[in-house]
Amino acid sequence: MKVHIETIGCKLNQFESQALSDALVKKNFSIAEHLEDADFVIINTCSVTNKADVKSRQAMRKAKKLGKRVVVTGCYATTDFDSLLDENSADIIVKNESKFTIPELLEKRLFLEEKTPILENSSEFPIVYQFEKTRAFVKIQDGCNKFCSYCKIPHARGRSRSLEPKIAISFIKNLIAAGYKEIVLTGVNVSDYHCADTGLYELTESILKLRGDFRIRLSSLQPDEFDVRFLDLLMNEKFSPHFHLSLQSGSNGVLGRMERNYTADYFRRLCFRIRQIRPDCGITTDIIVGFPGESEIEFEETLALVKIVEFTRVHIFSYSRRSRTKASLWKDWDGKTKKERVKRLEEISLKSAKTFVEREVIGKEYRILTEINEEGKGIGYTENYLRISTKQKCGGNEFAFVTPRNTIANAGTVELEAE
Ligand code: SF4
Repeated sequence: MKVHIETIGCKLNQFESQALSDALVKKNFSIAEHLEDADFVIINTCSVTNKADVKSRQAMRKAKKLGKRVVVTGCYATTDFDSLLDENSADIIVKNESKFTIPELLEKRLFLEEKTPILENSSEFPIVYQFEKTRAFVKIQDGCNKFCSYCKIPHARGRSRSLEPKIAISFIKNLIAAGYKEIVLTGVNVSDYHCADTGLYELTESILKLRGDFRIRLSSLQPDEFDVRFLDLLMNEKFSPHFHLSLQSGSNGVLGRMERNYTADYFRRLCFRIRQIRPDCGITTDIIVGFPGESEIEFEETLALVKIVEFTRVHIFSYSRRSRTKASLWKDWDGKTKKERVKRLEEISLKSAKTFVEREVIGKEYRILTEINEEGKGIGYTENYLRISTKQKCGGNEFAFVTPRNTIANAGTVELEAE
């Protein structure tokens, strides 16, 4: 029986799709790379924005149109379970908390015409060893307790919970032994990782003590939960000097309405402290533009903070109303205003990123892991998470040392070129 897995959304969803694929292969299913070749399709959906909902629905419709049996899971399937059930848009609908029962389910119940919610429980922290590239993701946390006023994720992924440190460590030891050079700790709100008296810092510290030539990277962190002890690790060669700190807005007024627990000034001072210790530390972020009630002055406060901080990359989201959130009750901005603000923020963030990279990165030596080789060029990421291309022949799973000489703008981000 051939299965095709369609993944929409974040790194966590990609990690979980990989886990599903591994588990299905262990049950003698084969993975079909193309939808057309599959007997049935698993769609791992996302619901972070309206666009993600639309993409999830399109994927379901496309598979159904091709006469495939459809299993839908992920955040959209979790939050919009009832409407999907009524619409008959999938053969089986599985909420996030039961996502990893799908292989057993398909094995046991292959498409009984019964559309019943599946509530069997199985480990939601799967162990995955097969990653496409040189980087391995480890899911250490799931869920979120913060309930920011615009966000649906706590409804889709439940309360925050963490993987036991000793399981995480043994898993990572095996990944290092398997030759992975970069380990990314991922989750929904990784900053909230804690198990008894082990927090994210303690877990990271234990991983850094492991033997082997590898580096660790943290995925998205909440600014108000940033553990300042991470500053002490910035010169540790095994700790990637890059933080993804989710800002969302540079205006205290908007941050207050978003129910984010920090101020623009707190965020600015945190970035300043980071760069005081490691001037070329990569800082990336997420910003929502066009949040309900965001005045022109408030938007300009966001632009001003972006100029000051000099993020290496800004992921820009146009506000999108999410059901079951507080902000969904507030008056939304028109599409034209949002579009115009996205464009202005893109320009400012690209310009300030270029200024930063030319001042702090160009001419310095970096260790990269080459992920793809195309047209005789190796492409990979530096330790401070900048995409770089090099003519140097780099292969496989080894670090290569390169010195970036130029910057190029690509799809709204600054990239590097080395000899
Ligand atoms: S921290 Fe806020 S934005 Fe992030 S997942 Fe939790 S509720 Fe959503």
